[in-house]
Amino acid sequence: MVTGIIYTPEYQNHQNYPEQPDRVLKTIEYFQHSGLKDFILPASYDERYILSVHTGEYLEKVKETEGIDETDNVYANSLLSAYGSLTAGELLISGAIDNAFVLNRPPGHHTYADRGGGFCYLNNAAILAKFLQEHGKRKIMIIDWDAHHGNGTESVFYEDSSILYTSIHQSPLYPGTGKVTDTGAGDGEGFTINIPVPARTGHDTYRKIFEKIIIPAGRVFSPDAVIISAGQDSHLGDPLTDLNLRTGSYHVMTRMILEKISTQVISVLEGGYNIENLSAANYAIVCALRGEENPFYIKKQKEPKSAGKALGKAISIAKSYGWI
Ligand SMILES: [Zn+2]
Repeated sequence: MVTGIIYTPEYQNHQNYPEQPDRVLKTIEYFQHSGLKDFILPASYDERYILSVHTGEYLEKVKETEGIDETDNVYANSLLSAYGSLTAGELLISGAIDNAFVLNRPPGHHTYADRGGGFCYLNNAAILAKFLQEHGKRKIMIIDWDAHHGNGTESVFYEDSSILYTSIHQSPLYPGTGKVTDTGAGDGEGFTINIPVPARTGHDTYRKIFEKIIIPAGRVFSPDAVIISAGQDSHLGDPLTDLNLRTGSYHVMTRMILEKISTQVISVLEGGYNIENLSAANYAIVCALRGEENPFYIKKQKEPKSAGKALGKAISIAKSYGWI
């Protein structure tokens, strides 16, 4: 299994605490200490790929956004982040790699076609989905396990039946969107699956969500490729959120996707603000992508009763659309 890890030290240039350079720097050090040495630099792409998702007017606005010091050109850094996901897409299409982990920042899933938010400027996952579609992978499933709802990605594809957008996120929490009853509109009716879960939801409930909703829906949809919007702020101990996933949970979820939905998987970094946990969780994802065993033990824990209720609601809605 050839897993491409897309990274450039330039991903440390952008400053936006707590969405900080250490998020990728410490991860790369963790990878190197674990024996991973080969990283792929992002290539450059035509602006039309960015414009496949974002309006020209919005791009002009991002170009005018200034960073907090002169080394931080927000537009250039956001573009480089999007290029990371496009590079993974190009290499997957060419067959040079089997799957990929994109260690990029700034993240993207809160960005709409015409506005950013929540540390995000360009929607890396959405831009990648459009790129894959243009290169023959017509049906794309996006699995967003960031603790925050990917309101931007949902909005871009809300009326699109060629993209199945699924999100498991803490509720209530920023940005306040992603109700279980928000299921898409027009041609995209049913092609958005939102699974909001309460604080302290952990590994067992996520595993059930995968077994009962994500995997069956993925098999019905049968995508040509899967994009993981991999926000590891759903990990226990994240300073911005209150979910309780364990480091090993990210290996379990990634492996389930690979084994039961599609081998064509690109994982794109979103959130994750406890630097140590983020580094280890990123490593867990890469181990699964490389076909290696889970190096992390998953400790059992108590979960709130309301987590089961949230799961039940999401199941009944997914059933009504024929996903399960
Ligand atoms: Zn997040």
